Order: sequence, then structure tokens, then C-alpha cells
Amino acid sequence: TTRLVTPDKREEDLAEASLRPQNLAEFVGQEQARANLNVFITAAKARGEALDHVLFVGPPGLGKTTLAQIVARELGVGFRSTSGPVIAKAGDLAALLTNLEERDVLFIDEIHRLNPAVEEILYPAMEDYELDLIIGEGPAARSVKISLAKFTLVGATTRSGLLTTPLRDRFGIPIRLNFYTVDELELVVTRGARVMNIPISKDGAREIARRARGTPRIAGRLLRRVRDFTLVAGKEIIDRAAADHALGHLEVDGLGLDQMDRRYLTVVAVNYGGGPVGVETIAAALSEPRDAIEEIIEPYLVQQGFIQRTPRGRVLTAHAFRHLGLQVPSTTNQ
Ligand code: ADP
Repeated sequence: TTRLVTPDKREEDLAEASLRPQNLAEFVGQEQARANLNVFITAAKARGEALDHVLFVGPPGLGKTTLAQIVARELGVGFRSTSGPVIAKAGDLAALLTNLEERDVLFIDEIHRLNPAVEEILYPAMEDYELDLIIGEGPAARSVKISLAKFTLVGATTRSGLLTTPLRDRFGIPIRLNFYTVDELELVVTRGARVMNIPISKDGAREIARRARGTPRIAGRLLRRVRDFTLVAGKEIIDRAAADHALGHLEVDGLGLDQMDRRYLTVVAVNYGGGPVGVETIAAALSEPRDAIEEIIEPYLVQQGFIQRTPRGRVLTAHAFRHLGLQVPSTTNQ
């Protein structure tokens, strides 16, 4: 898609690599997650053992990959990274696992998208640091056990409900990441501007933060786009007016909603009288895959109180009608 505020990774986000915080202290927000990780990392180091397996759960762009790298760096161990859909065969995962050294971190992004045959060999690997492989076929087939280095698996997923129970149960440290507050995102923007050498005022950073959909990845992306507008306009510094002007052009509204968010809300408001309406119906109306709706668009709309998920479908709130500039129907809770 061409959505500016999509939290998905994109090519230009390679520029993100330089923005990534390098340690827990530099990582903004997620107090609880950081405090807990700090305890578990310190304890694992003191015992000289591998950290228990960690699962990060939360919408895209909130820092799961960044935290996985930080965990490895704080532990002082090697870091390998892959993703669920990339591991096609059990043998691919076996190759990765057998190359790990003691206490290394293996990061698997989108771990809910592992194919079942691959997932199966992950169970004994996580539990007993053993691989059970079947070699050969038919009557000649035999199983071999290979012992592995004691490693730490760090998985990332958008919703823990997407994982099978046996996989979910094998993570000793499940950690949920939440959307960031405006104050936290202001720090992310200020820090990013400093790293990229972009002059920005406090209210300029705040304006970008307010409109970043609670997501550091979007904050970084908006900062880069606003910088372009400011440069072309011949301004020296990003202040509030410059940020507002640029974000207006980018069709990111005052609450950080983009065209896709507004299309979603408008479809439910206008075509379905505010709901309840099923997610499949909304997906069809927007020509977007259901997962994208559920994992990218809706979490923020729910968190901001624009929609509610009910057993009968999605329902728009009075707040959403007002934000769209529409009359609130009498059937909607005020
Ligand atoms: P995810 O893996 O959850 O999709 P990433 O870890 O790739 O998200 O983070 C996306 C970008 O946002 C990274 O470039 C990183 O620099 C930035 N970022 C994420 N979390 C933070 C944070 N807490 N503080 C500063 N920057 C962050």
C-alpha cells in the first residue's frame, strides 16, 4: 500500500536502522516491559545461563525487533534474525539452530506464520535444546537426535491469539507492547531528529508525536517526510506550523488518522449506520485483507475509542461520528 501511516516495514525504513536505540536505557517507554526484561537479563547473566524464551506481542512498529536486538546486546551474545514465512522447511530451521552458539538469541519475526512442520521441530528445540529429525523416507526412515546449544528464542507476533497453544506455552517470558503516549513519542521524535541532525522545536516534535498513531515507526517516518517539506519550503527549523502544514499535505489528520482510517470509519458510519458490522464485510468494502484490518487498522481505532469490537461485529462510537463531522445517530451511546 502507499499508506504513509502504515506501521508495516517499508524499504525506506532501512533508514530506521540508524535510529534504533542500542540499549534498554535508550529505549523510550514500555516501562513495565523494560523493567521486567532488565530483571530477567540480569538474573540470566548472573547465573551464566541462557535467558528463557521471550515472546513480544503487539501491533507493528512498536519496537519488537528493536527490543530483540537490545536483549542480545544486553546479554552480550550473538544475534540471528529470521521470520516465520521465510523458513520454508524443517531443514532450514535446523540449519539455523545448529549454527547457534551457547546463549545466542535467535529472533523469529511473525512467528505465527511458521508452517506446522517447522513449528513441530521447534518444540523440542525450545524445551530440551534438542532437534528430532527424521532422515530418509519410508521403511528406511529413522529419527536422529541432535543436541543444540542452550539458546534463547525471541519471537514476535501481532496478536498472541494467532499462535498455537503449544508454541505459546513454551515462552517463559511473554511481553505485551502497548501504543506509546504522546509524551513518549515526543522523546522518540526529538531523539530521531538529533540523530539525523534535523533542527526541530519542542512544539514541532510534539505535533508530529500527536499524529504518529501511537507508533514509533510512524513517528520516524513522519519526521522524515516533514523534514522534506520544511526543506523545500526553505525553513530552517521544524516548528509547529511547519509540521502542521506538512502533515496536512500528507493527509494525516489532527489525531493521526490517515485516509485508510477515515475510509474505514466512513464505511461503517455511512454504509452500515455505525454497525454492528462484521470484519469480513468491512474488509470486502475496503478491498483490504482481513488480517491487515484486524492487525494494523483496528487496534489503534479501538485504543482511541473510535470503534468497539462486539460479538455481533464492529460498532462506531459517538466520538468517531463527531470526528468525521457526522451527526451522531440516536441509537449510538453518547
Ligand atoms: P516492530 O518489530 O515492532 O515492527 P521495530 O522494532 O522494527 O518494530 O521498530 C520500528 C522503528 O521504531 C525502529 O526503527 C526503531 O528505531 C523505532 N522504535 C521502536 N521503538 C522505539 C522506542 N521505544 N524508542 C525509540 N525508537 C523506537
